Amino acid sequence: MILSNRLTFRYMVALTIIAALLTGGYVVVHDLIKTQENGAALINISGRQRMLAQRTALLSLKLAQADDPVEVAALRRELLDTVNLIEQNQQSLAQGDISALSRQAQMLGDQYRQDCSGALNEDLASYIAAARKLADGPVSPEATPPELAYVLRAVSGSLVADLDAEVDRYQRESEQKIAELKRLETIIFTLALIVLALEAVFIFRPAVQAFETEHTTLQGLNDELRRLSTFDGLTGIANRRFFDMRLSQVWGQGEKEGQPVSLIMIDIDHFKAYNDTYGHLAGDDCLKQVAITLQAGVMRTADCAARYGGEEFAVLLPDTTLAGALMVAERLRAAVAALGLEHTGSLTAGVVTVSLGVACAIPDKSRRPDTLVEAADKALYEAKRTGRNRVIAAA
Ligand code: GH3
Ligand code: MG
Ligand code: MG
Repeated sequence: MILSNRLTFRYMVALTIIAALLTGGYVVVHDLIKTQENGAALINISGRQRMLAQRTALLSLKLAQADDPVEVAALRRELLDTVNLIEQNQQSLAQGDISALSRQAQMLGDQYRQDCSGALNEDLASYIAAARKLADGPVSPEATPPELAYVLRAVSGSLVADLDAEVDRYQRESEQKIAELKRLETIIFTLALIVLALEAVFIFRPAVQAFETEHTTLQGLNDELRRLSTFDGLTGIANRRFFDMRLSQVWGQGEKEGQPVSLIMIDIDHFKAYNDTYGHLAGDDCLKQVAITLQAGVMRTADCAARYGGEEFAVLLPDTTLAGALMVAERLRAAVAALGLEHTGSLTAGVVTVSLGVACAIPDKSRRPDTLVEAADKALYEAKRTGRNRVIAAA
C-alpha cells in the first residue's frame, strides 16, 4: 500500500515534468516557426527596399531623358508611387507594424530601428526627397539636375551597400535566434529522455517487482488454501471432502471404462476406550499413526486413503476387484496391528486394531457412488459384530 502510494506519487511527478517539457517543447517549436516566418518577412521587406531604390534611380534617369509629355506624366506617377512605397516600407519597419509581426519580429524590428535610426534613415530620407523633387520638377533634358546626379550616385554606391548590409544583419539575427531555439529544443528533448529513463528505473521496475512479489505471495496462499481444503489437519492425509470428490471422479471413470471400483471402510476398535485410558492427545497421536500406516499401505498412485471422520478411514481402490481389495484390506489390518500400539482398554487385543468392511462394484448409471459406501459400511458393521480386528466383504 505504502509502496503503491509512493509509486503513484513518483508517477504523478514524472507525468507533470513530462507535461511541462512537452509544453516547453511546443512553445520552442512554435517560436522557431514564427522566428523563421518573421525573419523571412523582414528580410523580404528590406530586400524590397533595395530593389525599389534601384527602380527609383532607373525611373529618374528615364524621366530626365523622356520628351513625350504622356510618357513623362506616366513616369512621374510611377516614380512618385515607387518613392511613396519606399517611405511607407521604411515607416512600417521603423514603427514595427509589419503584418503578422510577432515577438521575435518585434525584437528584430527594434534592432532594425536602432540600426536604421542613424545614417541609413537619413540617407533614405534625402534620397526620397531628391526623387520627389525630380518627379515634381520641370524636365530639362539639356542640363542634368543635381538631384538626378545625387540619386544615381547614391544608388550605385553607399545607399545600396547599406541596404545590403541591413539584409545581411537581419539574416544573421534570425539565424542566431534559430540556433538558440534549436539548442533549447535539444535540451528539452534530452531532459524528456532522462525523465523517461528515471521513470523506468524508479517507477516501472519497482512496480514490476512489487507485482511479482504479490503474485508469488498470492500463489503461495492459494496453494496453502487448496492444501487446507483437501487435507485433514490432524493426520495429514486426504480429508472427507477430497474423498467425496475422488469417489465421484473414480465412479465416473469406472462407468466409462467398465472397470470395478473397490472401497474399504476402516474403524479403530474400542477407540473411545483408548481415549479414556490414555487421554485425547494420545488418541490424536494414535489416529496419526494409523493414518500414516494406511497411507503407506496403498501402493498404486490412483489409490486414495482418507480420514472419513472421527476414527474412521476410507481407502478407495479404482480398477480393483473384490479379491484384490480384500488382499489390500488384510494387509492394512495386519499393518495396524503390527504397529503394536498398546491398548489395555481394548476387549479385542492388547494393541490397537482396526475392523474393515470391503465392497466392490462395477459402476453404472442406475447406481450412485453412495451405494458403494453403504455396502462397505454394512460390511464394516458386520466385522465389528463378529469380533473386530477383521476384514469382511460386503454381500
Ligand atoms: P468400536 O470398536 O465399536 O468402533 O468402538 P469405538 O469406541 O471405537 O467407537 P465409538 O464410536 O463408540 O467411539 C469413537 C471415539 O473416537 C469417540 C471419539 O471421542 C473418538 N474420536 C473421534 N475423533 C477423534 C479425534 O479426532 N481425536 C481423538 N482423540 N478421538 C477421537
Ligand atoms: Mg466409529
Ligand atoms: Mg471405533
